Amino acid sequence: MNAPVQSLKGLDLKAEINRLRKERNAVILGHYYQTPDIQDIADFVGDSLDLSAKAAATDADVIAFCGVRFMAEVAKILSPQKTVILPDMAAGCSLEDSCPPEEFAKFRAAHPDHIAITYINCSAAVKAHSDIIVTSSSAEKILAQLPMDQKIIFAPDKNLGAYFNRKTGRDMLLWPGACIVHEAFSETELLKLKAQYPDAPIAAHPECPAFILDHADEVGSTRAILEFALKSPAETIIVATEPHIIHQMQKAAPHKLFIGAPGADGNCNCNMCPYMALNTMEKLYLALRDMEPRIEIDEETRIAAKRPLDRMLEMAGATVGKGAMGPRG
Ligand code: SF4
Repeated sequence: MNAPVQSLKGLDLKAEINRLRKERNAVILGHYYQTPDIQDIADFVGDSLDLSAKAAATDADVIAFCGVRFMAEVAKILSPQKTVILPDMAAGCSLEDSCPPEEFAKFRAAHPDHIAITYINCSAAVKAHSDIIVTSSSAEKILAQLPMDQKIIFAPDKNLGAYFNRKTGRDMLLWPGACIVHEAFSETELLKLKAQYPDAPIAAHPECPAFILDHADEVGSTRAILEFALKSPAETIIVATEPHIIHQMQKAAPHKLFIGAPGADGNCNCNMCPYMALNTMEKLYLALRDMEPRIEIDEETRIAAKRPLDRMLEMAGATVGKGAMGPRG
């Protein structure tokens, strides 16, 4: 059992995490949606698949994944010989929760003529029931390789699926899941903000509903939004995804103004991921100290879940890109 967080008062958490990282030969991964202190201590900062791929390429014995559970599972699927720890095992995801594996298996069985293309934001068990996994940056390229008359189930994000239906002219059958964070943006508040900053382009993640994407100048993965924000000649950018990504933007372009798109009352924290927020420096320290909580996946599920991930990597080629480098370079 982890020691209570109160007993950590007075500890130099940064120094302790750095010491344990060396002792354990651990690589620390920080998702773009983690708090700045975690992003700044991570060896790699990036999107979920990028992070897992980078960790797999290291000779680390331990992966400390500061992100949510399905991401740490992907790290374990790709690196079964490494120990994978997650600072808080309760760090789930509303998309994962929306798609229980048994229900998904039943849905598949009810549509035997459809293949299942599944967004990476799902459990290992749902991956094991899928034909091809996609990320928001690889989905379009993968769909382009499938015949237009191929019947497809797209799970678990209905907004992402609807976006690719509109973009590709397909009629994929959509699982009714959604990201609570990207669904929280308010069109009314976004338009008020745009009226205040008429020259600021809007960059949005395709997990947002169509009523937000319709106003976006750029729609793309978190990494694509980061690249757009840095490359754009605009001095002010409105960012419609989880706002902790702004930390990387601000570090790379301190002269620019990045504004997080607002939620319903214009001023709420509802666009911050409550699952990501469960990870803290204290819990990262404890996880490295106690080597728990650990991600364990039975070998049969791991192999079955790896197959559609490998299929994605074959079909998408080099879409696993570079995460921003952390302090160890
Ligand atoms: S931001 Fe949304 S999709 Fe990402 S982990 Fe949080 S709930 Fe899941």
